[in-house]
Formats: sequence, structure tokens, C-alpha cells
Amino acid sequence: MAKVYNFSAGPAVLPHQVLAEAQSEMLDWHGSGMCVMEMSHRGKEFMEIIHDAEHDLRGLMGIPANYKVLFLQGGASQQFAQVPLNLLGERDSVDIVNTGHWSKLAIKEARRYAKVNVAASSEDRNFAYVPDEAGWQRDPKAAYLHYTSNETIGGLQFPFVPQSLPDVPLVCDMSSDFLSREVDVSQFGLIYAGAQKNIGPSGLVVLIVREDLLGKARADLPTMLNYQVHADADSMYNTPPTFPIYISGLVFKWLKEQGGVKSIATRNEEKAGLLNHVIESSEGFYHTHIDAPFRSRMNVVFRLKDEGLEETFLLEARKNGLIQLKGHRAVGGIRASIYNAMPIEGVKSLANFMQDFARIHG
Ligand SMILES: *Cc1c(COP(=O)(O)O)cnc(C)c1O
Repeated sequence: MAKVYNFSAGPAVLPHQVLAEAQSEMLDWHGSGMCVMEMSHRGKEFMEIIHDAEHDLRGLMGIPANYKVLFLQGGASQQFAQVPLNLLGERDSVDIVNTGHWSKLAIKEARRYAKVNVAASSEDRNFAYVPDEAGWQRDPKAAYLHYTSNETIGGLQFPFVPQSLPDVPLVCDMSSDFLSREVDVSQFGLIYAGAQKNIGPSGLVVLIVREDLLGKARADLPTMLNYQVHADADSMYNTPPTFPIYISGLVFKWLKEQGGVKSIATRNEEKAGLLNHVIESSEGFYHTHIDAPFRSRMNVVFRLKDEGLEETFLLEARKNGLIQLKGHRAVGGIRASIYNAMPIEGVKSLANFMQDFARIHG
């Protein structure tokens, strides 16, 4: 088998151990004689799988008892509509912080249902920073404040959790840094994350919602979009994405074995530090426009001084087993996504390659 390090932004690399375990159980899950894909979602085998997945996730994040964990479908993108449709209640406006591509899509979709107050934006400097919270223009009557903790495409990450006002819960699109660092869930009203970045296979969205925020959905909402329906049915209103839930459960177990979120956060800092060091010490050969405190630990986005060399960089990287490093088509350049499952050896290998490349072409 080709040995590669996969820096894809998503669907992204999964822990080797998880894939090997899934392979060994593929034809016969725990003596059941069935593949997980073939099981009734209401049978005792799958009930055990989803129960363990939720239990392990609750343990990893310290999710308080008054929060529901939901396993949903439709991608993080569906949440851009589903959040306002479920949380607006009697209110008609929402606050959203604009820090890049994904925030903009959240704003665009929320505008279909609510007045959107862009509480802060860093578009003036091409999303190179997170605006200082002291200057945010917040609406005390907003149904919630929405922000994107990590902008996967731009490579911009919040180093802080915004304040939740007493009556304005905090909603976070945590798709690309979920489980990558410690968070205090009790500061949030709702957290959602598409699975294909840092959790498991695409097709699954994990949602954590405070119970008192349920039950506000508009009456004409399709049943399948109503959080309350899924919460009441423990994510079993209809057939959930069983295989992605199973794989995600294996990832949660793997993360526990790694020492949990605190340990992985330390390793993530170290990984991002290795690449940032190469960029900063390259005398301009590599550069990033993101201000230092806001550089993402998950998606290291950079350019070469000579942009004409980027194609060669990607080709040479590929020859060295370093794949899927191309930046998003919206911003170009190079992007190294180094989620939890990317081993430090992969990052070291990329850092060495970058230094060699700069020496040869600099
Ligand atoms: C990938 C991503 C999305 C979109 O996820 P889909 O599952 O493709 O809908 C939304 N927000 C962030 C921060 C992302 O990284």
C-alpha cells in the first residue's frame, strides 16, 4: 500500500487504527454475523453502538446533562438554515460574526429567515484577524450570536470563546476544530460540526444543544428539520447515518486512548508550531497573511512568494507522499489540514519537505 500523508481539508484523514478496526469488523461486528451497514438501527447491536458513541463524546467534552447530543444529516451547511428555523422563536433577528467563507454562507442563509446583524467582520483586511470583542456591535434582542470557531478555507481560528449574553445564547459552527482543544460546553447554547473534518465520515452532523432552546421551532417547519423531534427520538426519528455514527464512535474511543482532548490539543499546538516555524523562518519564501494570534491550528494556509512555483510545490510534495495540499479554489495557495488524526510524523515530513523545497528553489 502506498504510504502517504493526507492533508485534505475534508473529507479528511482518519486514524489508521480506526480504519484497521473497522476493516477487521467489516464482515462480522462483534460476533453478530453482520456488517454494521446491514443492521437494523433499532436492533440491540446498533443501539449499543450509538449509545457508546454518545457516552464517549459526552465524556470527552464534559457535556452537561442538560444538553442533548444529536446525530443528524444534511451537512453543516444545512445547519445554516436549521439553526435560525429552530432558535428564532418569538424573535426576528440574529447576530453573526463574519470571519470568512463559512460565516458568509451562514449569514446568507440566515437572511432568508431573519434580520441578520453582522456583529463584527474582518473582511476589511481579507479575514486576517478576529475582531476584538470589545468593538462588536451586538443586539441584546438577537435570538443568538453565531460564529465560526475555525474558518477552514481561510485558516483563521478564534483564540477565545465570545461572551454569551444572559439572554442571547452562543451558537458555534465548530465543524473544523471540534474536539481539537478543550471547550466549556456550558458557555454555548448550541454547537454543531460536520463530521468529515475532525470526527468521521461525511453525511453526519453532530449537534449539541441546550435543552431549554428546544421547542421554539416554527409550526410549518418540516418534521425532519425540527431539533425537538430528533431530540425526543434520541436521533432515531428516522434511519440515522448508521455507518458514519459507528466510525465516529471508533474515533471517540481512539481519542480517549490518546489521552482525550487535552492531550490532543497539546499535540495540535506542536504540529501547527512546526509548520509556522518553517513559514516564519523562510525569509519570505513562504508567507501567510493571517495575524499570528489567529492562525489556525487545524488548517495552515500559506502561499509561496513566487506563486508560479506553487504548482511545482504541489507536484513535488505529491512525489514525496504528501497529498491533498492544494488550497481551496476560492483562495488558492497551499493548505495543510492537520486535524487530530494527522500524526506528528506527517507534519514533520511536510516541514522537512518545505525546508528542502525552499533551499532548492529559494
Ligand atoms: C466544511 C465546513 C462546512 C460545510 O460542511 P458540509 O458538511 O459540506 O455542509 C461548514 N462550516 C465549516 C466551518 C466547515 O469547515
